[in-house]
Amino acid sequence: MSLLLALFMGLSALGVQGSTDTTRTDTVTAVVVYGDDLLLEADEALSDDRLEQLLDSLCTLDPAPEDLIRDLRLFKRIRSMDTDQMVVLIDSLFELDTVPYPLINEINLYASNMPTQSAVDQATLLPWSNTNIEPGQEVYGAWNTTNPNAYGPELSQKDTVVLVQLTNGPCGFSMPVPPVVTSRFGWRDGRPHNGIDLDLVVGDQVRSAFPGVVRFAGTFGGFGRLVVVRHYNGLETYYAHLHRLKVKSGDVVEAGETIGLGGNSGHSTGSHLHFEVRFKGVPIDPSHVIAFTEGELLCDTLVLKKTRWSFAAYPMGTQFHTVGKGEHLYAIAEHYGTSINALCDLNGITRKTRLRVGQRLMVSAPQVNDLAQTTKVAR
Ligand SMILES: [Zn+2]
Repeated sequence: MSLLLALFMGLSALGVQGSTDTTRTDTVTAVVVYGDDLLLEADEALSDDRLEQLLDSLCTLDPAPEDLIRDLRLFKRIRSMDTDQMVVLIDSLFELDTVPYPLINEINLYASNMPTQSAVDQATLLPWSNTNIEPGQEVYGAWNTTNPNAYGPELSQKDTVVLVQLTNGPCGFSMPVPPVVTSRFGWRDGRPHNGIDLDLVVGDQVRSAFPGVVRFAGTFGGFGRLVVVRHYNGLETYYAHLHRLKVKSGDVVEAGETIGLGGNSGHSTGSHLHFEVRFKGVPIDPSHVIAFTEGELLCDTLVLKKTRWSFAAYPMGTQFHTVGKGEHLYAIAEHYGTSINALCDLNGITRKTRLRVGQRLMVSAPQVNDLAQTTKVAR
């Protein structure tokens, strides 16, 4: 079965799903996919943390999908493997009585998309969009006022690492509502929860997080009454389950300007704001942008690192700590001069979460006041 090595290493090969590389050589990079089945839906993020969250969430289902859990655990293990080890693993999967094709497909796709270090080093700083008419066209192309989900993964296919300057001057950010988090970004009952839920009373004012232009204001499926704002920094924010809309598409809004009143519309149990932060249509974890305990931005520059179809978001200056044997949150917080609350916020965990040995935690996001400073250090 080492034929497979040749195939997924991207030598010239036939494949169901292929992509040409940008240098336009005669070689076609192809990924072999057996049938249509994948372990994960195509638009799901695959960071280690999210995979852990998905596993935790699947384990709480009754009955738990045991085959899927087993396959995902195996898939998680390949992340520390080199390609030779992956080939051995895939060979062994083909020997099984029931060949797990979705798992093999997932491993093939993962292997073909492993980022190279040089790609990570060549981060591009997203331009600040200086127009009040349909901002962000250089990033998004067409401005769509009828479909909140108008931008799909194809838009970010060629991205590697993108730097987003969150604010440009003072008064550039406002909490949409006071920060009382009732549900985090990640996995809930085996399904992705693409935003963060913030508690409110029906009729509370909901404010735009950053300045920008309203792209969508209307009712949309489970979101209920929804406002989507395109910001000059390139991000979009979503405000769902509103009771009343106070803006229409095309309206220019400042950070902190009321865009609607909070409510319980759409698929919602109890009044709350479902708040999403997206880049090119891809939801990113709002708690990697905003410190919800303090109600402030974590940092003024966000690093978005492309995963297979999604983006992992880190505040610039983030450090990682790999949990060692016997370590607990208190000691880790003390070591990095941060608080347990801040650690929990940033990593989407609670004080009661059991840390796993080898788990990577984000530990700090010191304010980086200007990018030039960072660039200076890099030189
Ligand atoms: Zn929600």
